[in-house]
Amino acid sequence: MIRCTHRIEVSLFYGYLYFGGYKMGHFKNFKTVVYIPAQVAKGFTADKLASDYDFLEKYIGLDKVYLETHRGDTDVDKEQLLMVKGFLESKGVEVSGGITTTINDFKGAEGGKQRLFETFCYTDPAMRNRFKEICEFTASLFDEVILDDFYFTNCTCERCIREKGNDDWVTFRRRLMKDVSENCCVKPAKAVNPKVKMVIKYPNWRESYHFTGYVPGVQKDIFDATYTGTETRSPQYTDQHLPEYLSYSLVRHMENAWPGRNGGGWFDTYQCWSMDRYIEQAYLTAFSGAKELMHFQWSDLIENPFVAAMGLQLSKIDNMMEGIGKPVGVSTYIPFDSCGENHLEMRFGMLGVPVETTPVFDTKASTVFLTESACADSDIVKKLEAYVLEGGKAVITTGFLNKAGDELRAAGLTEAYLAEYPAKVTRYQVTGDFAGYEEHKSPILFPVICHGNNNAWSLLNGGDGDVHAPLVLRNSYGKGRLYILAIPTAHGELYNIPESAMDVYKRVLCGQEYASGKNFSMFTYDSGEFILYRYVKSDLHTERVTIHTSKPIEALVDVETGTEFKAEKEFRFEDFKRYEGYKVTVISTPGRFVKYRFK
Ligand SMILES: [Zn+2]
Repeated sequence: MIRCTHRIEVSLFYGYLYFGGYKMGHFKNFKTVVYIPAQVAKGFTADKLASDYDFLEKYIGLDKVYLETHRGDTDVDKEQLLMVKGFLESKGVEVSGGITTTINDFKGAEGGKQRLFETFCYTDPAMRNRFKEICEFTASLFDEVILDDFYFTNCTCERCIREKGNDDWVTFRRRLMKDVSENCCVKPAKAVNPKVKMVIKYPNWRESYHFTGYVPGVQKDIFDATYTGTETRSPQYTDQHLPEYLSYSLVRHMENAWPGRNGGGWFDTYQCWSMDRYIEQAYLTAFSGAKELMHFQWSDLIENPFVAAMGLQLSKIDNMMEGIGKPVGVSTYIPFDSCGENHLEMRFGMLGVPVETTPVFDTKASTVFLTESACADSDIVKKLEAYVLEGGKAVITTGFLNKAGDELRAAGLTEAYLAEYPAKVTRYQVTGDFAGYEEHKSPILFPVICHGNNNAWSLLNGGDGDVHAPLVLRNSYGKGRLYILAIPTAHGELYNIPESAMDVYKRVLCGQEYASGKNFSMFTYDSGEFILYRYVKSDLHTERVTIHTSKPIEALVDVETGTEFKAEKEFRFEDFKRYEGYKVTVISTPGRFVKYRFK
């Protein structure tokens, strides 16, 4: 049985632990949670439930479950739900409710609609009513109810087309799901059980929410709390091709969108084609500060070797998070209902840049990073102009420049524009460095930034043969600066940019404290401690990661073991001037996370 030290000590005396009516979990920094889908709940016998429970308790330690009442063609009757709930509560497990908003055609509803995954048609009166009944029934049994992430609609039936009227689908579905959330879900549930906390879980596909009626910017004022999908699986081979870093950054995004109201992160076993890939999802979810680690789902976990590995790692993750503070990173503005250069900020996260995504433009941040997604905010250039004028450092991508170029130029923030042709880059030049060249590299296609020489200054050039163009361009405006980063035409090529050139991107984003290397993430916290994690993928071997800082440090300390890595002085030329700072190199091992602090 896995227990936090505190619990082991105290449970020796008391057998089990309750503090003021609150049962302490197995871990100090998060709860271990398992989801029980309706089909599984319906099939439980008392014996099966007990033996499954023993397995989960043995390996991951069970703090809480979400017990589902409805999914697809399955409804679980009250007696069965109370049997499961009663058993788990007798074991000290917290039990909340769950609903998956999928349903087969039924008598009274309009049939034959093209509903993806059998999601509801929310204009059909019979379906709306059925959804309302499910919410009422579930709220009558539980004080907390979560909606699994099928709470979207892509229905394009004739009734939906009629009700859409002259609006586009995005506008119509925003209106529709606001109405459904209020009048078919939260209000009826609270009428039955005024104490009930209604939770909406959002899927891992943030960039597409608004197309399907997921509107967190609206729903945050309707639901009590949210929950985040962090199931990234094996990116190369899955339909969703999500960078692993999403398991961290999407939780941060939702936490910033619903401050203090993000319940947890949710991952699963599907298409995780290595054990490490499965547990990495939990590492990143926990590193983001998620309060619950939701393991989907109960029956997939039983007798699954993934669960044994997870059990071994949970207490180590818990130790990592102990006293580490609040996650911090480069403020990356991703407005609600936006898309464009999707997942790009996560790719920087996979290159060791700590990223803090937020749906709020943080005017207090020292640096703000903007990808094409930020252009969904119609006032973005006005906000940018005011921010840079006052001394802010804004970093935009070529995708942003492409979208907002006319406005940026009209505002006088830059004269730069994109050529209509891309260019091949095999040579890199760090312009402020007298010997900053990397040559004969595999070709990467970049958009070509055209600028006024000596009006803006290129910090990094990329070229081939006798031509080159800026890859990192600096403009000044008021007290601040606007940087433009050239993003390879194929975003995956970011990982193939040579280290010394990528370091220029990193210095622009992070300042003088950054980490060189790839295939790893750096998770930074306001305590000053940080975690390095090297992913188990592609170049599957140890690699050096070098931490640079302008702070006069003696060493980098492995917080757990106390091992010290001696810092050395470094210098380089920046803007043709000598810069002096400190660096420490450590060996980063695939699948291993280490917490460090400076000394
Ligand atoms: Zn419809």
